[in-house]
Order: sequence, then structure tokens, then C-alpha cells
Amino acid sequence: MVDAKKNDTYFKEQLEVISERIEVSAQSVGRNPHEINIIAVTKTRSIAEIEKLISVNHRIFGENRVQEAQGKFLKLKERFPNLELHLIGHLQTNKAKDAIALFDVIETLDRPKLAKVLLKEMEKQDRWPRCFIQVNTGAEEQKAGVLPAEAPAFVEDCRKMGLPIEGLMCIPPVDEDPAIHFAFLRELGRRVGLEQLSMGMSGDYEIAVRFGATHVRIGTALFGPRDYSV
Ligand SMILES: *Cc1c(COP(=O)(O)O)cnc(C)c1O
Repeated sequence: MVDAKKNDTYFKEQLEVISERIEVSAQSVGRNPHEINIIAVTKTRSIAEIEKLISVNHRIFGENRVQEAQGKFLKLKERFPNLELHLIGHLQTNKAKDAIALFDVIETLDRPKLAKVLLKEMEKQDRWPRCFIQVNTGAEEQKAGVLPAEAPAFVEDCRKMGLPIEGLMCIPPVDEDPAIHFAFLRELGRRVGLEQLSMGMSGDYEIAVRFGATHVRIGTALFGPRDYSV
């Protein structure tokens, strides 16, 4: 069900509010706001809600799970070929084939085994989604991502293999100041020559923009709270 309040104006207004905040943050550090992309995170959201965002000219989306994304975006991408879909959740190697077929950007490349499988699928399908390497900046045990100390070598290995590596992605620990993690990711990006940085969510995207985010991943601030029961 689409919430009746969430008509086209609702999404247009939410996008405007978020864009204005991004603009203020970007300008406060002398950045061009136009280099920052809003990824609308649509996990648990309906096709109808996504269509409403498309109708107000939004075109960049993020999903966490391959199967859920297929259910919505296989059809949507046929109807709207200029959509850009990012995978922002953990990718199992047995879903690599479907992920390569559907996504335009894989943000969660985080281990050598996955790099191998992705490359093989890309060659097979001759489809080359851009890749971001997920860095576990907080070295959290339960979290995916390559460890900070191992990141430079992993980036280099992936490049040597021929993978289209374009950026870095991180999800800071919930109980820490995200700024430290954003600053770290930017510094790492500089060191390894990757300018695209996917960092910042509904609660901290303005901070992320000040620290160089080129992609912010926004769910709740656009759609309201998620309902996992549906
Ligand atoms: C769900 C999710 C988001 C969006 O979170 P919000 O707080 O709703 O903006 C961003 N990034 C990742 C990796 C997510 O899983």
C-alpha cells in the first residue's frame, strides 16, 4: 500500500529538503553540490513508492538484497532504462550472476573470492557494473568489508585483475562519531586514487558531505520509517 500522504508532492518536497541540506553542507567546505548523488534506498519499499520517486525525476536507487531488487527493478529498468541501481548489501558469491545482470554499481565488493567470481561473471555477460570496495572502517567483527589495513592491497589486486574499481564505501559503527570514519575513508581514497566515496545515511549524510561523500544512501529521510513486517 502506498501511504496516501506520500503523493508526488511529498517525494518532491523530501528530495528538495535533502538536496538543500546537501548544498549547504557542500558549500560550507567549498564543494560543488552537483558532484553529490542521492541514492534512494528502497529496501522494503513498494514498486508504487519507487515509481513516485521516478515520476519526480529521481533515478538513482539502492537495494540491499539481490532477490528483492529483482522483484522490483527488473521490470522498472525495462520501463525506465536510465535508472541506476546500486547494490549496497552483502553479496554472496552464488548471487553474483544475478547481481551482475541487474545492478549498475556494486558497492559491496569486500573479499578476494567475490572479486574473482564477479570478474568471471562480468566477462561471461560482458556487463561491467562499476565497483566500490566496502571498507570495514570500524573493524567490527559482525560487519562486512575489507579491513582498513588490507584495503590498499585489495584495491590494487582488484585493479590488476581488471575490475572496474571506482570508489570506496563504508558503514560506520552506530555508536561512534561517524566523522572519524568518513575522514578515514576520504584519506584512504586519496591514497589509493579513488575519488568516489559512498558514505552517509539519513542520520549523518550532511557530515558525510563535509568529508567528501560523492554518494549518500538515503532511506528513512525520504520514505519515513521502514516496516520490516510486510
Ligand atoms: C538501509 C541502508 C541505508 C539507508 O538507511 P537510512 O538510515 O534509512 O537512510 C544506507 N546504507 C545501507 C548500507 C543500508 O543498508
